[in-house]
Amino acid sequence: MSKKKIGEFEIDIDKALSKINDICAEKVLLQLPDGLKRSSGKIIKVLEENDLEVKLWGSTCYGACDLPDHIGDADLLIHVGHSEIPNLNVGYPVIYLECRSKIWNPPPEEFFEKLKGKVALYSSIQHLDHMYKMEELLEEKGFETVIGEGDQRIKYPGQVLGCNYSTKVPDADTQLYIGTGKFHPIGLSLSLERDVLIYNPVTGGFTTTGDKRDRLLRKRFAIINAAEDAQRIGVIISQKRGQRREDILDKFKGDDYDIIVAEFDEVVPKLVDDFQWDCAVNTACPRIALDDNEIFRTRILTPLEFLISKKKKDWKDWEMDEIH
Ligand code: SF4
Repeated sequence: MSKKKIGEFEIDIDKALSKINDICAEKVLLQLPDGLKRSSGKIIKVLEENDLEVKLWGSTCYGACDLPDHIGDADLLIHVGHSEIPNLNVGYPVIYLECRSKIWNPPPEEFFEKLKGKVALYSSIQHLDHMYKMEELLEEKGFETVIGEGDQRIKYPGQVLGCNYSTKVPDADTQLYIGTGKFHPIGLSLSLERDVLIYNPVTGGFTTTGDKRDRLLRKRFAIINAAEDAQRIGVIISQKRGQRREDILDKFKGDDYDIIVAEFDEVVPKLVDDFQWDCAVNTACPRIALDDNEIFRTRILTPLEFLISKKKKDWKDWEMDEIH
């Protein structure tokens, strides 16, 4: 046995066991994202069969940015679902058990008619194998393909995170995202400032980000406008090690408004809205301002949007908030 199936995903437990042996670990802390927590029993069973003492991490796990501060008496952390963020300083041993989807439906012939010129390929960690499969398929059909190298927050070429699109290749003629869901391709289209074609390898369907980028931008501009007269400005700082951006705080200072900096473990409506700020600047996960805005009573702006609202930057400077 080398691979273990959890849901539609496969994880390489043998690779983890060999690393565990290398550092002679006896106790491990196991961390899973919400969507995979129900599958923890399967992984625990394998680890226990290999004479390991396992404790579960019961708190949040939004990504590899959200590793625990401490692992107690465990010898290492096993983080399931995401790939390492290479430039994140963790301070204890971590084994990343990446999840790779194995459900592949080949694209229908009509899909290839949507492709023009050089094709840039992207994916999230779960569909990275599908991205390589698509690359092969396109090259067999004579398309020129390109997969961009990312910056130091990115583990694999072509990989995108909700907070980082540094693998983008703006001059490619077709921007093709392979994966399920809209979260990453819409972020990519905002970062590229153009439309992205999406191929869903599970269903074999394809679509584009279409007017979703424009609709989102219109909402952002309305929020920026409404924040122009804000006087009591909360600045959200995350305690999660991979979402912490303290270095940008100085940019927010101004003479005609008050800045109140607050640390959050979890950036959720109840905790933010109770402060009744006129608006809040989110320096934590960039997706909070973009995707979750409607669940907060408080207007949440990205750092750049706040600077635009206070006329320190121009509207035309708007760009996707990313962490590098
Ligand atoms: S900061 Fe947000 S988008 Fe980036 S890895 Fe963490 S949870 Fe994902």
